[in-house]
Amino acid sequence: AQDKRESLYVLSQWAGKFFKQHLWETDLGKSIGLSYFKERGYREDIIKKFDLGYSPDQWTALVDAAKKDGFQEGYLSDIGLAIERDDKSLYDRFRGRVIFPIHNLTGRIIGFGGRTLKTEKSVPKYVNSPESEIYHKSDVLYGLNHAKKAVMDADLCYLVEGYADVIAMHQAGVENVVSSSGTSLTTGQIKLISRFTKNVVILYDGDAAGIKASLRGTDMLLEEGLNVKVLLFPDGNDPDSYIKQVGSTAFMEYLAAHQEDFIFYKTHILLKDAQDDPIKRAEVIREVVESIALIPDEIKVSVFIRQCSSLLDIEERVLLTELNKIRINRAKAQ
Ligand code: ATP
Ligand code: MN
Ligand code: MN
Ligand code: MN
Repeated sequence: AQDKRESLYVLSQWAGKFFKQHLWETDLGKSIGLSYFKERGYREDIIKKFDLGYSPDQWTALVDAAKKDGFQEGYLSDIGLAIERDDKSLYDRFRGRVIFPIHNLTGRIIGFGGRTLKTEKSVPKYVNSPESEIYHKSDVLYGLNHAKKAVMDADLCYLVEGYADVIAMHQAGVENVVSSSGTSLTTGQIKLISRFTKNVVILYDGDAAGIKASLRGTDMLLEEGLNVKVLLFPDGNDPDSYIKQVGSTAFMEYLAAHQEDFIFYKTHILLKDAQDDPIKRAEVIREVVESIALIPDEIKVSVFIRQCSSLLDIEERVLLTELNKIRINRAKAQ
């Protein structure tokens, strides 16, 4: 089994090289893939640093090359580089897409994300490697191999949604950043972060999905004992698009100025909907206390209860009663 895993790593590494060669050394790769990255504003050193690639728009370019280089067909479908037809023949999963290899902590390639260059809504924007013996999506953070030292040095980790956000932030000089590859953060990913720091700033997309995911992510991080701040970029921007819009310097300034402790963030978000409706305001208070009740550290809990009390102008005693009620209900539910 160990031999097989090793073979799968070797095949992934080989595929990464295949995609890179196509990006840098073929006419179509250069005119389609490389110019796509350059239009997005990525410098050549950054494109190389992240091993970005291009997959030719053919049904079996990778399958044919892999067979020619002696790789077993079964391994190609095991790690999802190829998809099996009913007649057992194989075709390439990532056709005509730019490629973002996904690395593990030690820098080995374990999977890929492929972005379409088409703009039609019917085409999925990203296609990703499926789960495999070497790729467990819920235990991987994109970019952590490049970020871990910077995360430890800063004792802080920025958490973004997308591959492009990680890359754009690196280019802007912020290297302590990882992506959950979508909006559904997992406990495995949080445990991974907490090996390097206990401080997380969520920088999800400033759209409805990002807001929702930031609230869910906040609760999960709090539950694992991490300290959480949140910052959303204006007008539906994500870090990548915001850097492009305002430039690196203004981005850094925005980043420094607009991080909010989770309790302020959650309160502000929920209060916006509640306006002056007293019943809705009461619900906001309850929901903020729900988050506080997840924190395992009692000292932090009491600090946040105090903050919540002054922020929402509610007596601490009332909040503590609510806190206890929530705890009792949770204990019952278990
Ligand atoms: P880009 O800037 O290239 O348009 P993005 O990273 O901003 O992409 P989002 O729509 O914000 O794209 O999605 C965030 C992340 O979610 C992506 O980087 C990718 O990892 C994942 N993702 C997005 N769309 C899909 C999809 N259709 N299938 C699977 N994963 C996806
Ligand atoms: Mn998004
Ligand atoms: Mn995005
Ligand atoms: Mn984006």
